[in-house]
Amino acid sequence: MKLVVVAILILSTSISVAGDPVAPLPADQEPFKCTRCTDWNQPVEPWRLSENSWYVGTKGLASVLIVDDAGLILIDGGLPQSAAQILENVRKTGHDPADIRWILNSHAHFDHAGGIAALARMTGARVAAGRDGVIALTRGPYSPGDPQAAFGESARYPSVDSVFAVDDGDVIRVGKTRVTAIATPGHAPGGMSWTWQSCDANQCRDVVYLDSLNAVSSDDYRFSDHPQTLAALRASIDRLAALPCDVAMAAHPDQVPKSPGNSGTLCTAYADSARERLEKRLKSE
Ligand SMILES: [Zn+2]
Repeated sequence: MKLVVVAILILSTSISVAGDPVAPLPADQEPFKCTRCTDWNQPVEPWRLSENSWYVGTKGLASVLIVDDAGLILIDGGLPQSAAQILENVRKTGHDPADIRWILNSHAHFDHAGGIAALARMTGARVAAGRDGVIALTRGPYSPGDPQAAFGESARYPSVDSVFAVDDGDVIRVGKTRVTAIATPGHAPGGMSWTWQSCDANQCRDVVYLDSLNAVSSDDYRFSDHPQTLAALRASIDRLAALPCDVAMAAHPDQVPKSPGNSGTLCTAYADSARERLEKRLKSE
């Protein structure tokens, strides 16, 4: 009889805790505040990017889910407050977030890496990022040499406990799926684009997740004063322009057209527009 009473007590306690409507948001999901954050974080329904990949991000910040029978790979985590939406979108595609094996990062800034700590905690996935972005991800808010470093503590986001450092050409494997890291530093140290194949019964297509190529910095920074960063950004632009690219998504999704009408030229168009913006920026310096 005693055992039954204890069991009932435990059950009723756990129900009242689980249903508590005022439970505080975990620290790694507390909203990051920025001018565009509310707009970026508007929810959108997930949509199919290719045979094996889905857009699961928010309105203004991309996250892509890659599906293999052996498990899932997620690219980018948006803002800290995007994490719950990304997981909800993963569920809406019919997949279980607990099957995410890897979370890959494009670059270690608050708007693409802010949700990764929470996502890693909630899914148990490992995190991988470009080697030079690891300091920003694990200690924050910036890796040395970042053009935005002077924004300092105002750009801090929840740190990730452990990050697997990736170099150009490294491959993350889950089952038959291979996601290759393409080093695209310049916007941020350690910036990585990611590419994989997506096959249906008739053909295989190259899918590319495009890292940011924007020449954006804090006010006091001039790209012309940093020849190494400038050269890296130019090389990244050339690299993406030349990549096999049938399907593309960018870290900021409004920078690639959603319609597949110009399939095959998406990466070149993306790179051309980044080159134009960089030249304009250099003239203004
Ligand atoms: Zn950035």
